[in-house]
Amino acid sequence: AKNAGRNTVRFFNPDMQAAIEARATLEAALRCAIECDELQLYYQPQVDRYGRLVGAEALLRWLPPDGEPVSPVRFIPLAEETGLIIPIGYWVLEQACAQLRLWQEDPRMRGLTLSVNVSARQFHQPDLVSQVRETVAISGIDATRLKLELTESVVLDRVEQVIARMRNLKMLGLGFSLDDFGTGYSSLSYLKRLPLDQVKIDQAFVRDIVRDHNDAAIVRAVLAMSQSLGLNVVAEGVETVEQRDFLLQHGCELFQGYLFGKPVPIDALSLPQVPLTTD
Ligand code: C2E
Ligand code: CA
Ligand code: CA
Ligand code: CA
Repeated sequence: AKNAGRNTVRFFNPDMQAAIEARATLEAALRCAIECDELQLYYQPQVDRYGRLVGAEALLRWLPPDGEPVSPVRFIPLAEETGLIIPIGYWVLEQACAQLRLWQEDPRMRGLTLSVNVSARQFHQPDLVSQVRETVAISGIDATRLKLELTESVVLDRVEQVIARMRNLKMLGLGFSLDDFGTGYSSLSYLKRLPLDQVKIDQAFVRDIVRDHNDAAIVRAVLAMSQSLGLNVVAEGVETVEQRDFLLQHGCELFQGYLFGKPVPIDALSLPQVPLTTD
């Protein structure tokens, strides 16, 4: 047994050692970030077919006081592995509800929706429903303006459990959006079974929509299918007028992307948003 132990240790080469240390450093820094108020929500506008602001997606940023902002692409996976996503996720939800409450007190902002990303690990926390219920109650928001964005990774092999949980949450009034649609495994079957309100077409399909016939075909199919299932569709990662026009032509109603605005601190999310109508 001792030998086996020793042999195992030998598999850690210097590269792996360095990766493990870098990870540990990042994890320690992330713990500190939570305690030191270094996390912030940015808001990216979502617009309708006339370019009018209809809502926003809350996107997490880690802003160390002395360094470059760290992308959630880098720290969310780590937060998921370490479980730090649980306190982070609740913090995000509280912040988002507090912001929604402020909007609901402002006649110009009252109708806006706010979308919040919920990771798989957070979604499966035993106390998720009661935590969301409590946060909604304390903030005093109209929950019909709150959307939770889930990815297909939430579902995996637990479809029944996920459906039941979604139904419980929907009783609070909130809605569900299926994020990164098209990038997962069993998209089509989930689309039919889950009590969804919205799907978001992943930016990977939008990127080459004007040039790539396959991407264009997929997007057209998603739009047609979603319409027949009564789901609204948000196209993500819309950067050009050409992409927007293609999507418009095929019946897309909602848009998010740099063309309409990057994620910004709340004070920079101003009304009215760039109405980019060409028609
Ligand atoms: P996502 O939910 O798919 O968010 C969309 C990402 O696309 C955001 O990256 C956004 O800044 C970026 N984006 C928006 N429009 C454009 C565009 O026109 N062009 C391009 N190239 N990119 C665009 P971001 O903010 O870096 O977030 C990355 C991911 O991190 C998110 O992907 C989401 O999966 C995760 N994330 C962010 N905030 C949270 C959070 O509060 N909780 C959880 N669990 N995950 C989060
Ligand atoms: Ca999202
Ligand atoms: Ca997405
Ligand atoms: Ca994504």
